[in-house]
Amino acid sequence: MSKLHNFSAGPSILAPEVIEGAANAVKDLDNIGLSLIEISHRSKEFIAIMNEAQSLVREILDVPDNYSVLFLQGGASLGFLMAALNFMKEGGTGAYVNTGAWSKKAIKEGQIVGDVKIVASSEDANFNYIPKEYAVSTNWDYLHLTSNNTIFGTQIKNFPVSRIPVICDMSSDILSRKINVSDFDMIYAGAQKNLGPSGTTLYIINNDSLGKSGRSIPSMLNLSIHTEKGSMFNTPPVFAIYTCMLTLKWVKENGGIEEMEKRNEEKAQLLYNEIDSNPMFEGTAVREDRSNMNVTFVLKDDANKEEFDKMWTSAGISGVKGHRDVGGYRASIYNAMPKESIQVLVNTMKEFAAQPA
Ligand SMILES: *Cc1c(COP(=O)(O)O)cnc(C)c1O
Repeated sequence: MSKLHNFSAGPSILAPEVIEGAANAVKDLDNIGLSLIEISHRSKEFIAIMNEAQSLVREILDVPDNYSVLFLQGGASLGFLMAALNFMKEGGTGAYVNTGAWSKKAIKEGQIVGDVKIVASSEDANFNYIPKEYAVSTNWDYLHLTSNNTIFGTQIKNFPVSRIPVICDMSSDILSRKINVSDFDMIYAGAQKNLGPSGTTLYIINNDSLGKSGRSIPSMLNLSIHTEKGSMFNTPPVFAIYTCMLTLKWVKENGGIEEMEKRNEEKAQLLYNEIDSNPMFEGTAVREDRSNMNVTFVLKDDANKEEFDKMWTSAGISGVKGHRDVGGYRASIYNAMPKESIQVLVNTMKEFAAQPA
């Protein structure tokens, strides 16, 4: 079957070269006569892969030297818990901005660890905007943010200036735009949106902020241990890390973070322009907070749903059904999504509007 236009929210589209490279390495890693997934993670081959993945993250995101780059297991969902366990002091408080379903899950894990303050929330409007005015007390241990709300289609455009450590879940927009890593004490991102397959989570951590919680933390949840062991405390997810490494190479070869950001702006504009000018559709997120990664929109008249669904399906489009919390449609247009595929969706929307009533 010919390849579909993949708008899936996650796991999601990867560059064809990355899929090809990963498939080849599973068969025979760089002609060594063994598969990537049957060699020791302590072999010189895999150590080189891990080093390359970590140094590409450093290079592409301009990570300061006193930060560690780790590829751990457990998904961003375990990151919610690790953030609180490693940064919330015994008897201390974690502050959270609630911008959607993933923020809520982070809050829930924080509450298991200790005291949580929700400093701002957009739940009053079904998370269709990013709250911007809120006060942060220096008595709190950290401020937790979700940079891009995969389900509700909103994205933080300007990160707040904070005097306490900032922890950010960047699962669905990591590598999509330039960020200033030193504005954060910890960034974490599940791989399966913009980086690779599921199975690993990228952590970028300020080493100076670790080891201050005063808690006894189980080894696998202890970021100081993972940092000391260079992401090799136990067997790392070798296939997922290798594939992330290929994506990182692809980003570098395609012009790096500036070029990714530029392409993502253009791609998102193309689709938002259609949503705003097409009489059949409307966007769900407040304009200034619209995500460049997950574009959410609805039909003005749901009676047309069956007709539109038939049209995009036959155009070879996959994965645009909206999340049940928002309804309608969600086009996830991560780094690897070519502009041509977005044009196919835009053309389908135009064709749909041009049909006789
Ligand atoms: C997908 C997603 C998660 C969950 O990631 P897992 O790796 O499945 O735990 C968390 N946060 C955000 C913003 C996401 O998009």
